[in-house]
Amino acid sequence: MTLTIRKIIISAIVAMIFMAANIVVIANWLADTGVEQKASYVKEQFLTGTALTIIFALLILLVSPRNGKTARFSRTCPVCDERLSGNVKYCSECGSRI
Ligand SMILES: [Zn+2]
Repeated sequence: MTLTIRKIIISAIVAMIFMAANIVVIANWLADTGVEQKASYVKEQFLTGTALTIIFALLILLVSPRNGKTARFSRTCPVCDERLSGNVKYCSECGSRI
């Protein structure tokens, strides 16, 4: 887990708490703007059971890019999470062996 992912998770938790505290205001705003009708139209037209099954199957089949051979030239240091380019043996930031 990189530092960026941790920051995103903390920001998302703070945003969720703020949204939960103002849920009535947000619901009224969504009803006023007509988002609810557009969302129900999209749900009925495009998010059928087959489409949801395909989306979830693709999410399950997605693998981490670190496991594939295509990620060979964009690795991260296991010690300091520095992004490394090229086929290097040592981290340029902390000097540890990759
Ligand atoms: Zn490093």
